[in-house]
Amino acid sequence: MLDSVRFRLTLWYTAVLTLVLIVLSLITYFIFWRSTLQRTDVNLSELSEAFLTTLDAEVKDQSGPDSFELAGRVAITEHRFRDHVFAIFDESGKIVVSSQDVPPAAPATGSFAAGALSAHSFQRFLEASSRTERLFGNVKGGEDGYRGFARHFSSDGKTYILVILQSLHPQEEMLEEVTSTFAWVIPIAIVLASVGGYFLARKSLAPVVAMSRQAGRIGAVNLHERLAVQNDKDELGHLARSFNSLLDRLSQSFERQQRFMADASHELRTPVAILRGEAEVALSQQSRSPEEYRESLGVLHQEAERLTHIVEDLFTLTRADAGQYPLQPRDFYLDELVAECVHSARTLVLAKKISLNFEEACESPIQADESLLRRMILNLLDNAIKYTAEGGRVTVTCSRAGEEYALSIMDTGGGIPADLQPRIFERFFRADKARSRAENDGGGAGLGLSISRWIAEAHHGRLELTRSDSIGSTFTAYLPARQSSAA
Ligand code: ADP
Repeated sequence: MLDSVRFRLTLWYTAVLTLVLIVLSLITYFIFWRSTLQRTDVNLSELSEAFLTTLDAEVKDQSGPDSFELAGRVAITEHRFRDHVFAIFDESGKIVVSSQDVPPAAPATGSFAAGALSAHSFQRFLEASSRTERLFGNVKGGEDGYRGFARHFSSDGKTYILVILQSLHPQEEMLEEVTSTFAWVIPIAIVLASVGGYFLARKSLAPVVAMSRQAGRIGAVNLHERLAVQNDKDELGHLARSFNSLLDRLSQSFERQQRFMADASHELRTPVAILRGEAEVALSQQSRSPEEYRESLGVLHQEAERLTHIVEDLFTLTRADAGQYPLQPRDFYLDELVAECVHSARTLVLAKKISLNFEEACESPIQADESLLRRMILNLLDNAIKYTAEGGRVTVTCSRAGEEYALSIMDTGGGIPADLQPRIFERFFRADKARSRAENDGGGAGLGLSISRWIAEAHHGRLELTRSDSIGSTFTAYLPARQSSAA
């Protein structure tokens, strides 16, 4: 059950709500208690004022030795309420007159104060009041204790202390009522809120559940299906869109993989078929002349080489895709490497009577993977020679343009049709498949340019077809010129 987000959300929500309600009720209780106390204190203070006014008037009316005591009794009789105890003490703390000395007006009123004035806690309060002009404090006794107020006053040149005690029983009763109200309101609120919270969580998570069901149904066969986006502005819409774009990327890469596999097997099928056919022809006759066997072996060798070449290219691309082709950079001179490549390509041009020129450049120190760059240059040279007719010209230049080297291979071939130019760097793409194969023994599989482009990019450079029309094509590789120790 704890594994369900709905349940966990409800649990969290209920826990937080419980905490909030408890804190709120504690605060409410405290505020209520404080305001009750303040009201009691104000009431006691006002009562003392009224009592002293009455006492003052009575003192003036009375005469004789016990006039003050008599006046006190009259004032107490006038101001006595059910929950109050009045007492007047002289300076030495001796009681002059108190509510207990005055017969109660109603039978219930006198009893509550019995013993209150003699209690230990009251004596302490009285002691404390003698040190200060006015004092509020709590005194133990009765059902729930008393709130006490003591103030000094003088009459006939003598100083007295008036003490009024008010029972805290009504306040305590009220506070108890508040507490008991909280005690049943809070649990009911929590139960209602958690039930509501559970349904709310269920409703909010319903689209997620629907999405996960939909996502669960999407597989390799129906990779084109997408999640329904209810509201593309909210978080769930955002999630659905992110998931859909992930599916887009996956299906694109899946399609690429499928195309790659189909193209690769198609490319491999031709040399394998030639190998098989040639071997079958060679084996079909009882005896053949050594020349015929030689010829067959020559074809087999040529196709095997072609197969090796394709497999190597495929392997390179697969490792490059997986980011597992480690570059082995070292310092060398790019112009020297180009010169070497041009030199090794001379054998290719001789047969076709093509002139191959390398316009010597200034020293070009570079830090790069030499064997990969050699492969790229040979690929470009091979293409330029392959697609240039007899008697044509291939020119190689290498120059520095700002922070990079520009290595261009120009030919005077027939060019690439404009509509096919954007596709020539695609894997297995050949502008004219029939011609590529027929005119060139061991023609490429259409992987040369994609590998070359990857090599340039792996060196933080780029490879572009800078020009191609009916009088020839130019491929330019831009490679970053780094300061190196060879420089
Ligand atoms: P391939 O192994 O077929 O040469 P590439 O990837 O090297 O494969 O080249 C892809 C296609 O681009 C070639 O089949 C060819 O049609 C075209 N191409 C490449 N270089 C040239 C060029 N210098 N002149 C004309 N066409 C070219």
